[in-house]
Amino acid sequence: MPNIDEYVPIVGQSIVDDLRLLAERLRGKVVQHVNSTAVGGGVAEILNRMVPLLRELGVDTRWDLIKGGEQFFAVTKKFHNALHGSPEEIGQRDFDVFLATSEQNVREVDIRGDIVFIHDPQPIALVKRRDDNKWIWRCHVDVSNPNRKVWKFLREFIVRYDSAVFSAPSFSQTLPIRQFLITPSIDPLSDKNRELPEEAVAAVFEKYGVPRDKPVITQISRFDRLKDPLGVIAAYAQVKRYNDCRLVLAGGTAADDPEGAQVLREVQERSRRDPDIHVLLLPQNDLEVNALQRGSTIIVQKSLKEGFGLTVSEALWKAKPVVASNVGGIPLQVTHRYSGLLCHSVEGAAFALKQLLTSPDYARKLGENGREHVRNNFLLTRHLRDYMLVFLSLYHEGDIVNL
Ligand code: UDP
Repeated sequence: MPNIDEYVPIVGQSIVDDLRLLAERLRGKVVQHVNSTAVGGGVAEILNRMVPLLRELGVDTRWDLIKGGEQFFAVTKKFHNALHGSPEEIGQRDFDVFLATSEQNVREVDIRGDIVFIHDPQPIALVKRRDDNKWIWRCHVDVSNPNRKVWKFLREFIVRYDSAVFSAPSFSQTLPIRQFLITPSIDPLSDKNRELPEEAVAAVFEKYGVPRDKPVITQISRFDRLKDPLGVIAAYAQVKRYNDCRLVLAGGTAADDPEGAQVLREVQERSRRDPDIHVLLLPQNDLEVNALQRGSTIIVQKSLKEGFGLTVSEALWKAKPVVASNVGGIPLQVTHRYSGLLCHSVEGAAFALKQLLTSPDYARKLGENGREHVRNNFLLTRHLRDYMLVFLSLYHEGDIVNL
């Protein structure tokens, strides 16, 4: 795990000094994060880096997980899709399953934080344990157009928190508690994002049998319908008629996502007859993701819905040209024609991909602009600062927290 001073060459001394000052003010407070999975997906990705750094800064930080069975995670997946606005049949039975597992977690999770930081809907009911400590609900989901029934159900819990944190302005909702808008981040020194020698990149492409004899277009995502892997294949098929290239669809499945295996089967079926499509089921291995992103010509993120979309910042930090859907937090990361290309459809994605394949100089410029945008806005140091300011503000209701 890198030392906080190793961030100085990347973000500058003053940013790191600010972090130390803020951490100093949090001395004596225990911060406790709770979510539902230790690996897979963006939340786990961030906590795996943020928790050790907070500790290194001297903030007493814990990370706990709730437990749940297959039925519980099937329901929370339905909630997730419904919050993203997908039509889902949700009945009383689903709410009952959710409440039963929640009750068990309310009894069993060891709540010790002065500040309890709950991530996403799965552990939301833990707020029943509220005491004289402070509670924050961190929503990573795009709830700009949520299924009303699910939102109403969750809202009963949300209003019992001190504050809520959302990833983008469009996600916030009318609530009687304080709301903060904080975008997620990537860690430039993690195995997922640090510089890699070309041999390490080449070795991963070799391991997975992906030749780099022609441009490689890559999407790295859990096999999830909302990531639209079939749409990526359709866009690639349109591009392929004009520009020879390969497509890599790489991903694993998260422990709290029961739908992944089915989506993977559909993707494999759809790509079976084209040897230039490489469907890779990745183990949890950050260096491999890093190498695949670095070794690709273009990175795609054609999500139908997205919370923030960490993969976009990951690609931009590697100065890769990106084609991504104009959904969720993606337009915060990609300014169309400046730091990547945004699309709204299969045709739009295909058009953008063709443009980048035929204009490598333009593609390079977009990637370079993207890297600077990420440096200024989406690195872990900025994120740490924002969270620590929120923590402090809980003890200064109504005040302005000054450094
Ligand atoms: N990821 C990974 N392996 C995979 C698929 C995804 O490590 O097989 C990582 C990806 O690099 C990113 C995170 O998981 O860091 C996904 O976050 P994102 O916000 O893009 O989407 P989410 O999965 O949270 O919807």
